[in-house]
Amino acid sequence: MRVEIINTGSELLLGSTLNTHGAWLGQQLMPLGLRVQRLVTVPDGDPIRAAIKESVEGCDALIVTGGLGPTSDDVTREATAEALGVDLIEDEHAVRCIEQFFEKLGRPMTPSNLKQAQHPVGADVLPNPHGTAPGVYVPPRMGSASPCAIFLLPGPPHEMHAMFESEVYPRLKALVEIPEDHGITEVKFSGVGESSFQDALDEKLNAIDGGAMEVGYCARPGEMDLRLIGTSAQRLEGKQLAISTYPDFYVNEDGASLEATLVRELAASGKKLALAESCTGGRISSRITDVSGASAVFTHGYVTYANEAKVAMLDVNSELIESHGAVSEEVAKAMAEGALLKSGADISISVTGIAGPTGGTDDKPVGTVWIGIAEKSASGIEVSAEPKLYPQGREVFKQQVSQATLMKILRVIR
Ligand code: AMP
Ligand code: MG
Repeated sequence: MRVEIINTGSELLLGSTLNTHGAWLGQQLMPLGLRVQRLVTVPDGDPIRAAIKESVEGCDALIVTGGLGPTSDDVTREATAEALGVDLIEDEHAVRCIEQFFEKLGRPMTPSNLKQAQHPVGADVLPNPHGTAPGVYVPPRMGSASPCAIFLLPGPPHEMHAMFESEVYPRLKALVEIPEDHGITEVKFSGVGESSFQDALDEKLNAIDGGAMEVGYCARPGEMDLRLIGTSAQRLEGKQLAISTYPDFYVNEDGASLEATLVRELAASGKKLALAESCTGGRISSRITDVSGASAVFTHGYVTYANEAKVAMLDVNSELIESHGAVSEEVAKAMAEGALLKSGADISISVTGIAGPTGGTDDKPVGTVWIGIAEKSASGIEVSAEPKLYPQGREVFKQQVSQATLMKILRVIR
């Protein structure tokens, strides 16, 4: 089903009001398996007429927002009737609803509000419990040259959202005849590149049920969402395939952030965490403390940027720094161990690296980072460290290092 959206309102193009309807509607349509093929924003007045005329001829479902008000530049109703070649008629029930709305407000209804009770012949009026402008639904007119379902929705966001949920969603669902268990599953992974993921899995995912499930990807620095749209059985098969291929990179499937997932799982494991950050300057601690409930699992965030700080706060041996450099396996391990002993936490992680753009050398180029980890175990303390390279600039470096670190802790507690 080809869906188009027209957002009307000069304020959206002047930049005084952010057009949130397009994005919101896109998100609501996705679980229905519907894709928006075109999103158009037009100013009030005549451009609405041209846009509706064009869309009605080129799509199967059209959603128009705004322009249902009582003023002369609110022409969405007229433009729709015009595009369909039908008249506008007044709806008695809609008149009464508008009257009642004004009664509730304790204000008289003005004659111009009557315009809002009009709709194109053959259309249904959609009630609006939150405002004066009723919506309009024009069912697809079978046999016509352009059998397009048309929804006219009010501009104010709370009115539009409520009307979409109660009036539009059920009608669209019936129109596309999707199965009851059709839906969307988004599985978050961290640490595996989008292209490797695609190479390993895309063909297999698209072969499930003969390609009946829609497969999509959304990548961010250090993170990727796999989006599956289909029946619950198809999504389950796709999800299991992806997780069993990349078990070490799996984060969650409930939309929670990596840090929220980590805090939740740390709490469940009963373990406490401390961090010793150099090159990330506290970013990892900040991400963890963004999560409500972090106090139950996070004890210390040492920001030891200078060598002296590593020595003074984490008891790192200054000779280690002199002989191996601050960015080294030995110092990463010493930082993690120091943080564990000083804090009394169960797990500690350290990061020390070169964010750039300056400070790189031949054997330690910009982007090099060592991530150390120290854990309490039955036989004492286990310490290890691993190197990573993120040479994509300072900002991406810090984001990638924080991702990799959070993911590493998650893997350890799992
Ligand atoms: P209208 O129904 O066109 O008179 O719009 C009423 C109000 O709804 C506008 O003044 C905006 O504040 C808001 N509005 C309309 N369209 C949008 C949109 N696309 N995104 C966000 N707000 C909107
Ligand atoms: Mg408007």
